[in-house]
Amino acid sequence: MTAVKTIPFGNPCITDEDRSKVMEVLNGHILTHGPQCKGFEEEFSLFTGGGYSVTTSSCMAALHMSYLHFSIGMGDEVIVPAQTHTATAHAVEWVGAVPVFADCEKETGNISVGEIKKLVTSKTKAISLVHFAGIPCDMDGIMDIAQKNNLKVIEDCAIAVGARYKGKHVGLIGDAGCFSFYPVKHFTSGEGGMFISKYKEVADSINKLRAFGVDRTHTERSIPGMYDVPSLGLNYRMSELQAALGRSQLSRIDETLNKRKNNFEYLKDKLLSFKDTYVLDSINSDSVNSHYCLCLVLKNKLKEHRNEVILKLKEEGIGTSVYYPQPVPRMTYYRNKYGYNPDNYKNAAMISDYSIAFPVGPHIEKDDLDYIAKKLFEAIEVFR
Ligand SMILES: *Cc1c(COP(=O)(O)O)cnc(C)c1O
Repeated sequence: MTAVKTIPFGNPCITDEDRSKVMEVLNGHILTHGPQCKGFEEEFSLFTGGGYSVTTSSCMAALHMSYLHFSIGMGDEVIVPAQTHTATAHAVEWVGAVPVFADCEKETGNISVGEIKKLVTSKTKAISLVHFAGIPCDMDGIMDIAQKNNLKVIEDCAIAVGARYKGKHVGLIGDAGCFSFYPVKHFTSGEGGMFISKYKEVADSINKLRAFGVDRTHTERSIPGMYDVPSLGLNYRMSELQAALGRSQLSRIDETLNKRKNNFEYLKDKLLSFKDTYVLDSINSDSVNSHYCLCLVLKNKLKEHRNEVILKLKEEGIGTSVYYPQPVPRMTYYRNKYGYNPDNYKNAAMISDYSIAFPVGPHIEKDDLDYIAKKLFEAIEVFR
């Protein structure tokens, strides 16, 4: 039996305009180190409303460089949300520091300020946080702990483009902000990321770090090919092809965010009457959620049937996902290395094990949402 509809969870919306922008780069002769990356950085800063932007090869690269820049490493601890993508923790592991996992709030999926307070030690050097599914974290609470303990704040904004806290775009509140343009995120450059900071010297340093640590770009070299290397670096650059696609997608960002918001509100409204479930959403009236997806948490009798519900929806052509599949400390690598005490991550585990993520992206129309709500209702009614 084939389903009447097919609704993918993620569907990068590539337009003819996007294609022609990429072709323009291919028809030229500059494939890297060029005006596209520079333009993307300027336009991203205009969009966020301040700060300094640096294109990178991925969000993971931006996170890794953040710790390298702040000289966080061996013997240091970084507080990391348990409810996140593994990249948030891997970046800490790669510099030799210890990720100390903190549980999340059950209403938002965001790192809990109360938990952070319990985990700060004399070894703590930074707090990393994720604005979960576009819901801004309690930044006042986090910045307060950071200031009192002299900690850096690294904001993983991979799924939070467009999210604002008290008028400030996320990534510009702490010391560093890291974004992802992986295909399933708010908008895409194929692969790619953006590092942002409210501090110019931090962005300037990341700019060198991502390109082998060389002291001058192509255009700054009076004798072609000549440069010096005053510091250690990596190759974490974005290509001009990716930047052209990212720029073209960014030019539609207001439209994209609007559609996501409308889809989210429409679906949330429909799901409000579904007993034994709740939707993760912002609890701070001063913040703007950027609606990456809609996470529905199943409660009571329903929760044990989460995977059956997902499979039923899949049969009906409805693409869903799980954000994130496990609390990171429960993933094999981290469990083997640091052990896992389930009592410490109850909310993160609840969201990983009992929630379903629904798409709200620009590829989703109202009738898709009606269909999702109808099929979801049928799928869960069976288990009452
Ligand atoms: C997707 C994601 C990443 C990784 O992004 P890449 O650009 O693929 O490196 C990091 N953090 C979070 C929270 C993510 O969702």
